[in-house]
Amino acid sequence: MVKKQLEPRGIIDSRVLKAMLTVPRHLFLESDVAPFAYEDCPLPIANNQTISQPYIVAYMTELATISPKAKVLEIGTGSGYQAAILGLLAKEVYTIEFFPELARKASNLLQQLGYNNIQIKAGDGYQGWSEHAPYDAILVTAAPDHIPQPLIDQLAINGKMIIPVGNWSQSLILLTKTPHGIVENRMLPVCFVPLIRKLV
Ligand code: SAH
Repeated sequence: MVKKQLEPRGIIDSRVLKAMLTVPRHLFLESDVAPFAYEDCPLPIANNQTISQPYIVAYMTELATISPKAKVLEIGTGSGYQAAILGLLAKEVYTIEFFPELARKASNLLQQLGYNNIQIKAGDGYQGWSEHAPYDAILVTAAPDHIPQPLIDQLAINGKMIIPVGNWSQSLILLTKTPHGIVENRMLPVCFVPLIRKLV
């Protein structure tokens, strides 16, 4: 996976490549799709959700430039795979999953695998997780139709947010909170599951 999919497509950060080599992706999948764990594609997980394609996980992680001292927030825990990658790179990882059963499953698995710097909660990621803010990086792995203001508010100065935005046609946006304001760069066309919004 690393030699055939990630390096040829330009992933060069050695810490990211090492994390992608270390986390056993097959353990984050149901047994029927586990044989395809190292293929170049997203795969189904429970609750009609998906684990992202390895390249996209690596690309988003590389864009976030995560230091060993970083505090990171992920929205959309899903299987817990992206959180595990972040857990190897950052000091602390907080991750929010809408479906309680997915949150519970990911939490059990990450604990079993010995990741003890990752905290998971079930809830609405649109609101972020203000208790632990500010975050050096925020990775959003489900697509809203606009960038949630609470997430911008919870980003540290010089922090980076990587977020897919749009309905059927989405762009992966790199948002940087500079001391002089917000800078947004459109990086790639992508296809993520939608960020679920509760009707209020
Ligand atoms: N990062 C995941 C892939 C997640 S797919 C992995 O590595 O496996 C996107 C996830 O976002 C799904 O599990 C979905 O349930 C979750 N999600 C969707 N809307 C959400 C919301 N409002 N808050 C938190 N999680 C949400």
